[in-house]
Amino acid sequence: MLSASMTSTIAARSTPAGKGALAVVRMSGPDCKQILKKITRSSADPTKTPRRMVYSLVVDSKGNRIDDVLVVYFVAPHSYTGEDMSEIHCHGGEAVVQVVMNLLIEAGATAAERGEFTRRAFINDKMDLSKAEAVIKIIESGSRAQLYGAQRAAAGELSKKLMAIKEELLDVLAETEANIDFHDEKDVKKVELKQFSNLRQTAKWLEKTVSKEVDSSMEVVVAGKPNVGKSSLVNALAEKKVSIVTEEPGTTRDAVSCGIYLGGFKVTLVDTAGTDDQDQVGLAAIAAEILTQNKVKNAAMLVWVTDNPKTKPPELKKKCPMVWVVNKVDLIPDAEKQDSQLNGEKSRPYFVSAKLGDGIKYLRDHLAEMLTETYGEAEAIPVSLRQHAAINVIISSINAAERETREQRPELASEDIKLAIRGVEELLGQGIKTEVLDRIFEKFCIGK
Ligand code: GDP
Repeated sequence: MLSASMTSTIAARSTPAGKGALAVVRMSGPDCKQILKKITRSSADPTKTPRRMVYSLVVDSKGNRIDDVLVVYFVAPHSYTGEDMSEIHCHGGEAVVQVVMNLLIEAGATAAERGEFTRRAFINDKMDLSKAEAVIKIIESGSRAQLYGAQRAAAGELSKKLMAIKEELLDVLAETEANIDFHDEKDVKKVELKQFSNLRQTAKWLEKTVSKEVDSSMEVVVAGKPNVGKSSLVNALAEKKVSIVTEEPGTTRDAVSCGIYLGGFKVTLVDTAGTDDQDQVGLAAIAAEILTQNKVKNAAMLVWVTDNPKTKPPELKKKCPMVWVVNKVDLIPDAEKQDSQLNGEKSRPYFVSAKLGDGIKYLRDHLAEMLTETYGEAEAIPVSLRQHAAINVIISSINAAERETREQRPELASEDIKLAIRGVEELLGQGIKTEVLDRIFEKFCIGK
């Protein structure tokens, strides 16, 4: 719930709890200037030089010096929230921040709730809901690719498209409704079906551009026969002990996973139980099975491990990039390696020794490169499940409206178009219910 009303002035620590060199305490609301004056002493008045840092002291009511700080003041509406705002950059000690917060509250501020700064920005029209929700995704981004996607939404790419869709839907709605009364079949077809093709294209863009899966990281699946060193490879790539390495074949029974960064991507390395099939058909079937198992549903890449350059990996039926790694290079005679010395050439293996660490860095770089090649160009805009559901409603309603129009049922088409418009409005946060906003902003951290 939004505290009191927007007439209150809120304050919160915006940097994470715990000791640090610096901490930032933020404040927003009409009493910002007055509260700041009560607790700071400085030769220059920060409220007279908005957006500039001013050196100041924070003092308590008895004039005791609490900390020396830098203060920035923002004048409404030129601030994040659209209200008067200030930031106090103080030392990052628990006591310092606590005392500064207490002083702000004694001077008239209230402690902000989760996401309240961003919520105020939304209410004050500084950003629509799709941009506000992108803020949380920026903070949550665990990889460069995710960050790029979140920034696309924060920069307004999604909002702009949604607003354009809404305009187009409103046009189509007006014409559809006009046709309910003036039923001239030829005109209906001519005018509206053409407009639907634009809408369909935009819907396709939405489908392609958003990703609800970006929250769960991509999986890089390590597979191969037992005892080839899959667990050792996972441990070497992760640079820590994730999987149990044993001399007994077939010990990793269930998929074991761990999160690592490969280039800009946060991926989950999944170590699978070994597969002992001898022939290629059997191996291919098992590889397909691994890729469709629940646990590795999001397989972004398959790392197929053998301990012999003569044992080739299976042909994959499912489209998934695969890297062939020959492990235990320390045990492979030079003559056998010679043929395949060129690491990374098509259908040639990567030679590594998980045990000694040879070739691991090279392999890690290659995996990162392959991920970028396959997934890096299209940094999807990350959306929440709620946003994804609304996008699905938009897409299916546009399709249904087109069908109804083609079949000359403008009454039904008009209902579908209205549904699509509602979906767009929900994403932009237009006319959205307070309870829904509560749920969205609950996911934010305090101070954001
Ligand atoms: P997995 O069953 O495929 O997961 O294989 P493990 O990682 O459990 O390893 C099986 C055995 O091979 C263990 O005894 C490891 O110490 C050994 N091993 C793994 N990698 C290497 C390597 O690069 N060189 C050598 N010489 N032995 C290795």
